Amino acid sequence: MTQNVIEKSKKHLWLPFTQMKDYDEHPLIIESGNGIKVKDINGKEYYDGFSSVWLNVHGHRKKELDEAIIKQLGKIAHSTLLGMTNVPATELAETLTEISPEKLTRVFYSDSGAEAMEIALKMAFQYWKNIGKPEKQKFIAMKNGYHGDTIGAVSVGSIELFHHVYGPLMFDSYKAAIPYVYRSESGDPVQSRDECLYALELLLKEHHHEIAALSIESMVQGASGMIVMPAGYLAGVRELCTAYDVLMIVDEVATGFGRTGKMFACEHENVQPDLMAAGKGITGGYLPIAVTFATEDIYHAFYDEYKEQKTFFHGHSYTGNQLGCAVALENLRLFESENIVEQVAQKSKKVHLLLQDLHALPHVGDIRQLGFMCGAEIVQSKETKRPYPADRRVGYKVSLKMRELGMLTRPLGDVIAFLPPLASTAEEPEAMVSIMKEAIQEVTSLEH
Ligand SMILES: *Cc1c(COP(=O)(O)O)cnc(C)c1O
Repeated sequence: MTQNVIEKSKKHLWLPFTQMKDYDEHPLIIESGNGIKVKDINGKEYYDGFSSVWLNVHGHRKKELDEAIIKQLGKIAHSTLLGMTNVPATELAETLTEISPEKLTRVFYSDSGAEAMEIALKMAFQYWKNIGKPEKQKFIAMKNGYHGDTIGAVSVGSIELFHHVYGPLMFDSYKAAIPYVYRSESGDPVQSRDECLYALELLLKEHHHEIAALSIESMVQGASGMIVMPAGYLAGVRELCTAYDVLMIVDEVATGFGRTGKMFACEHENVQPDLMAAGKGITGGYLPIAVTFATEDIYHAFYDEYKEQKTFFHGHSYTGNQLGCAVALENLRLFESENIVEQVAQKSKKVHLLLQDLHALPHVGDIRQLGFMCGAEIVQSKETKRPYPADRRVGYKVSLKMRELGMLTRPLGDVIAFLPPLASTAEEPEAMVSIMKEAIQEVTSLEH
């Protein structure tokens, strides 16, 4: 049976973000999960060291979440949100606005983080049109930013690899530098923060009249390598957006729902976004629900007689899916009853200590962490911060070694991402970090 499924996977599947030649050499098929571990079809167990790509909160097969879905199934699985609503989607909307930054009072559902960002972009664009400033059509995107893989989301992203391929399909956006302290000239958080804010202000001064919105990940740039923004930066961006009358779209898809030790990472800096995208942890990692939050001011710019053509023209077949919303509601109940956010803030101190130990390795150049969102940047030379040549695929090799040792993650270039499920006990990260350590040591000892 096992061999048969593997053959089928090689014959028929095309996997996301995967060079299929790599997959064919190292196939992996997950069959079940329990707590913070998943099991493959051969019965081998792995720590879910990246929360199944940054989603999982309470571990797998969480009883309450399983039951919430079963209970909802007894009523209905799905009905549309076009022109009507359903019970769990409505209840969830209320709960979401209670936990989100207070200026965000409206929620618009979709099925993935990329869509939540597309929706925010379209809302920002149409907002200015609806209020009679149609000249504000452009966007500011952050260098190294990542907001998902649809064309709009990639257009406000800035990851060289993707732009190299799909660049001609994108709409143009202004790119603003973002402080990447480890690789900045000064290496000083305050200086690199201030330099970037200064450059952003120049850009805004010159172009604000044509700019609809700025999009930015919240506190941590995830996909480009877990780059944590220095204190004061996100708040500084907020101030500039306000001063120059540009909407601020904050992407909390990775950082939202407790991942960084706050319910939403923008709380670290008391930032109130105008639009905010969230997804990933919203259902505890169970079902594809995402959400775009908007302020009442933005909502009202679309509210009028139909003939005024201010309606927001966007929607997906499965928007507001009952099963997804029901499990999201139960997930958020668990956040409260199990005090997840505070727990993450506490436990991440222990993780910090564990990662310091990793930092001592001869090829670990930088450790970055905010809550349970961590990355270890592997370099060829710690003294000069010189990276390994990309074609050595050191990060990929480390992840394969970790897999062999019983832990899953996905590297971001040569940054090893470590995002344990939020409900991991204080001890579980210890076992996971020791696997990372062994894998990094073993792989780097073979490279020159
Ligand atoms: C994962 C991610 C997205 C895209 O979400 P999908 O659900 O994969 O479409 C967008 N923004 C950030 C910051 C992310 O980490």
